[in-house]
Amino acid sequence: MIQEIEPLIYDPEFRKTEPKDDDKALVYYGKDGILLKYENGRYILPSVSDVIALSYGELAPIINNSYYLFSIDNVGYYLMELTDNLHEEIPFIKSLDTDIDNVKLYNGIYTFMRIHRFRELDPVHMVFAGATGIHIRNWKETVKYCGKCGNQTRPSDTERAFVCSKCGYTAYPKISPAVIVAVINNDRILLVRNLHRPGNVRLELVSGFVEIGESFEHAVHREVLEEVGLKVKNLRIYKDQPWGISGAHMIGYVAEVDGDDTVVRQVDEISEAKWYRRDEIPEYRNRLSVGSEMILKFKQGQL
Ligand SMILES: [Zn+2]
Repeated sequence: MIQEIEPLIYDPEFRKTEPKDDDKALVYYGKDGILLKYENGRYILPSVSDVIALSYGELAPIINNSYYLFSIDNVGYYLMELTDNLHEEIPFIKSLDTDIDNVKLYNGIYTFMRIHRFRELDPVHMVFAGATGIHIRNWKETVKYCGKCGNQTRPSDTERAFVCSKCGYTAYPKISPAVIVAVINNDRILLVRNLHRPGNVRLELVSGFVEIGESFEHAVHREVLEEVGLKVKNLRIYKDQPWGISGAHMIGYVAEVDGDDTVVRQVDEISEAKWYRRDEIPEYRNRLSVGSEMILKFKQGQL
């Protein structure tokens, strides 16, 4: 899964620190474009010194600060941001929408890539860093101004938070818990296609965000009933995982159908919901998500 980067060690502890030249820089563009460097036949995250050099050239005068995010094996990862109004003038941003095989590299070296392509790259710890960075970046963008009084905030010196310069309100990171459920009916598993996913092709498990005031188990019962009209029993937690791309934290559950197994799908959410035998589940590459890990474990008879 995306967070399984052992033997490397992820250290999320907040630090007030300045970047070193060989620390890594995370530069995002738009909703989900990430700056990558092409070196020795593969894409890597640029170093802080790479991005500083770019800021004297093609990214000038766009990079305007750096913000410490986390460390992986004592390498610091820093968010280096673009100003709001100059994006379109960066020449290599034009390649953002092209196919991964046809990416045009600026100076033969740099490109922005969308996160759904970036997540297919290796190694996994780079994908984890990019996904975790975009979670912090997306949150940070929502706390530039105080949510209570509207004044500007400043980064806290002591913790991962932004503090209002006027009323003192402190905004902490937002992580949204969500449950994802492998519903099992003897030798079959329930797989769905979500109406709102691009392409509407991926087979998934039932999932949904936890509401305020409910337990994870309550969310499992509610989501399964809402999305596919089934009751479930014998819930057990499989694994959990951070999922920074959507700001979520996924709690994976296995559950058995309780009683009637007739599927009644929620038509405005789910385009298809069916029971699949192990041999009917298509093979696919599983690397990152707890949902796909559970589906493949079931296919292999291990869930
Ligand atoms: Zn305030």
